[in-house]
Amino acid sequence: MSIELKSATKVYGSLTAVNAVNLDVQDGEVLCLLGPSGCGKTTTLRMVAGLEATDGGDVFIGGKRVNDLAARDRNVAMSFQFYALYPSLTVAENLAFPLHAEKHNAQVIEQKVAETSRVLQLDGILNRLPGQLAEGEKQRVAVGRSIVRDPTCFLFDEPLSRLDVQLREEMRGEIKEVLQGLSKPTVIVTHDQLEALTMADRIAVMRDGRIEQVDTPHNVFARPANLFVAGFIGTPQMNLLACTFEGMKGSAEAEFSINGQNNITLDSSQASPSDSLSQLPAGSAVTLGVRPRNLQLVSETSSSSITLSVDLIEPMGAETLAHLRNDQNSLRVVTDWKVPIDEGESVHVQFTKGTTHVFTEDELLLTTL
Ligand code: ATP
Repeated sequence: MSIELKSATKVYGSLTAVNAVNLDVQDGEVLCLLGPSGCGKTTTLRMVAGLEATDGGDVFIGGKRVNDLAARDRNVAMSFQFYALYPSLTVAENLAFPLHAEKHNAQVIEQKVAETSRVLQLDGILNRLPGQLAEGEKQRVAVGRSIVRDPTCFLFDEPLSRLDVQLREEMRGEIKEVLQGLSKPTVIVTHDQLEALTMADRIAVMRDGRIEQVDTPHNVFARPANLFVAGFIGTPQMNLLACTFEGMKGSAEAEFSINGQNNITLDSSQASPSDSLSQLPAGSAVTLGVRPRNLQLVSETSSSSITLSVDLIEPMGAETLAHLRNDQNSLRVVTDWKVPIDEGESVHVQFTKGTTHVFTEDELLLTTL
């Protein structure tokens, strides 16, 4: 079984909510659709479920084109953002409901409800009515109701959005485990990057109806395909510095001027891909992207450091987030909390090898230095 979208498109009046999206989700794979509000995540999911007709392109489930198949005939399990439990049925009865609808025998129903209940930690509340549940518990029952059947695929729309922070953290891992055991394709819509990074096998980052990058959680973080993904994934946000590529210095060093002000020389001996910078004309506008955790405060200035003053300190527990600034530039740096650093003081910041991304003028990743 697999889910495949080929150039899937949805248009509302003058708005192309989903724009020629291509996706392929395999058995047992969890794909998270991640992106800012309004980028088309839910609409994409609803096209798979059959709740929105496609205005272009095709949707396949298990290799079968389902564009013209009604939602009820697609046998997908979808858990909604705004779930509705039957208020007069207990949790156990709510869980069993989809199984009754499929006319399973009592023993099978009991066994499947018990298994789902165990996995989602519902044992203590099986006899309660929805009105007697906390929001997070209701959400878990809603998730349970969609996994209790044996559908072709699982579609979740912000499944954890109503849970409190602690439960959310617990459930991310739990749900990941449950989904891995199901060997069905799963698509999860979320705007929470931590949720996507922890639960997904692959993440599709969306913006304005388009897919910007589909890749493993590690790669969208460590190898963002373009500036949007670079800025969207990761907290604190990646530093993005407007620069001019001044050219190569020998074969293993690349020189940049940052905002026409600070010149910086970065080691390019382990650039990946390796030769792309040597083909870039000197004078090209680029953006350097470096995560706050990949900058180091050093005691001496060098050709690979820049000097700024500390504008603001934000303690974050084990780490400190420092906002730095000079005339033209600002940078965020995360340091160990023990590093002594004061507002107003002058610091030298060094770029760490293997973590500085170079984006071209058309916002695509050229190489990582
Ligand atoms: P969120 O995270 O806020 O739920 P989303 O990424 O899921 O956002 P969608 O709900 O898919 O985004 O909406 C994509 C775009 O399509 C939005 O601009 C939305 O306003 C628009 N849209 C969605 N449904 C309709 C509709 N039925 N009629 C008109 N426009 C719609």
